Amino acid sequence: MPIPAIGRRSLLAAGGVAAGVLALPAAAHAAAKDEPAPTTPTAAVRRLLAGNRRFTTGHSRHPHQTLDRLHEVAAGQHPWAVLLGCADSRVSPELLFDEGIGDLFDDRVAGNIVDDLLLGSIEYAVEEFAPPLIVVLGHERCGAVSATINAINTGATAPGHIATIVETLRPIVAPYASAADGVERAVQANIKAQAAAIVAQSEIVRERVEAGTTAVVGARYDLDAGVVSLVH
Ligand SMILES: [Zn+2]
Repeated sequence: MPIPAIGRRSLLAAGGVAAGVLALPAAAHAAAKDEPAPTTPTAAVRRLLAGNRRFTTGHSRHPHQTLDRLHEVAAGQHPWAVLLGCADSRVSPELLFDEGIGDLFDDRVAGNIVDDLLLGSIEYAVEEFAPPLIVVLGHERCGAVSATINAINTGATAPGHIATIVETLRPIVAPYASAADGVERAVQANIKAQAAAIVAQSEIVRERVEAGTTAVVGARYDLDAGVVSLVH
């Protein structure tokens, strides 16, 4: 099959794209790629929300995603934020915060639940990297929360090990099970509950929170718009 010739219009379009890229100030690109890691909770929150703003407006810079970066961090990582997020395929932290390799320490499990294993993983990161920020990232229409509400309302038992997730979420979700917007309210309640649990159950995290060197914040990801909002 012959390879179609590239028409004049395609060349013009390609030239237009290239010109558009070149028109961006080189300094802005360099600054985005080499931005130093934030060292305070406030700066870390600001950095994540700025990255999410780029993502939702179609201006992602995809920093730290080159082979050079891979080689740079191969010998040692220095992530500056710990994420406890849902395993949901639509909630990938590096994408929605426009970060890259070695920036975020991701702990992910359906329902963004803290248990001893997850807490151990979080504490490892805190001890090792002293990150200024820990984020519990829940999201709109979370399947783990919906399954729990369904189990509560129908009396059904979730199959296999899914039941462990449902039973862990049950006491947090139960107050909202019969509400019209129950899933959304339960998602937010769960974000707050898991953030509180990290601080309550981890002396390692609590010491840093009390010293003001690390903050634990809750955040909600909107599946429709891609926007991350802090949950207080
Ligand atoms: Zn989920």
